[in-house]
Amino acid sequence: MKIGFIGLGNMGGPMAANLAKAGHEVTGFDMADVAIDGVSMADSAAAAAAGADVVITMLPNGQILRAVAADVIPAMAAGAALVDCSTVDVDSARAVDADAAAAGLLFVDAPVSGGIGGAAGGTLTFMAGGSADAFAKAEPLFDIMGQKAVHCGDAGAGQAAKICNNMILGVTMIATCEAFALADKLGLDRQKMFDVVSTSSGYSWTMNAYCPAPGVGPQSPADNDYTPGFAADLMLKDLRLSQQAAESADADTPMGQLAQALYAQFVEGEDGAGKDFSAMLPRFEKRGRE
Ligand code: NAD
Repeated sequence: MKIGFIGLGNMGGPMAANLAKAGHEVTGFDMADVAIDGVSMADSAAAAAAGADVVITMLPNGQILRAVAADVIPAMAAGAALVDCSTVDVDSARAVDADAAAAGLLFVDAPVSGGIGGAAGGTLTFMAGGSADAFAKAEPLFDIMGQKAVHCGDAGAGQAAKICNNMILGVTMIATCEAFALADKLGLDRQKMFDVVSTSSGYSWTMNAYCPAPGVGPQSPADNDYTPGFAADLMLKDLRLSQQAAESADADTPMGQLAQALYAQFVEGEDGAGKDFSAMLPRFEKRGRE
């Protein structure tokens, strides 16, 4: 396939490289000056999209997605597919879907989980929204860049799944960190805490696979001085998307709301910016009950 790939950052770069390695003809564009193995670079988003069977975007947010989509949609041939893998708000995904449909294009919103390691290793999970035809066109590419793709429903359903998942993740990380901080103050050894909780009803991905306590459980960003991994800033972005969606859908999400407020305080009012989202543990450690 001829593929245009726009947004070649931490995630998009290795994803595009994997498509090129699998034999696809990939033309890339990024605002920054980047070079990716096997990918020829165009000098605009529209130039990367012209003549492509599939155009993939991997961009920071919904506003940038809408701006890039306005450039690339007129450059694409009818019947081609636009596949957005960024994490953005559901409204932006649906707006781009409507513009793509009006131009005779297929659209899939397909945010990912699996992080930078998953992007490099081709083991991402895609959660996709769009028509059956659109999903079928993108699926062979998901198979190269990832190990699993779930067709969640119509346009926007992929973003809905992503923000619900990450709302659980943010809430669970906070719960795990505050429990460790309480355990410390009760004089409980952290390894014993892990041994019990990781095999009891308090277990979770944040405890078992991404333990926020250094030296405990499998290797995680806590063992690397909380270098991200998954940055607290990005968790804040996703929690804001979840609360924006909850507002527009009139859903009651008190834990998500509180998690958003805590990450906002950590990132914008304290020293959380640039740290992994599991650095909530040293934050709680330093605090007492107010
Ligand atoms: P990144 O900042 O490394 O990459 C974004 C790229 O987009 C940058 O290279 C930037 O120069 C480029 N860009 C910005 N505006 C542009 C424009 N108008 N035209 C062309 N290029 C433009 O970010 P990332 O970590 O690769 O994340 C990308 C998306 O994936 C985000 O939506 C993020 O939430 C999501 N995501 C990230 C992770 C992760 O672990 N990093 C995991 C899952 C999902």
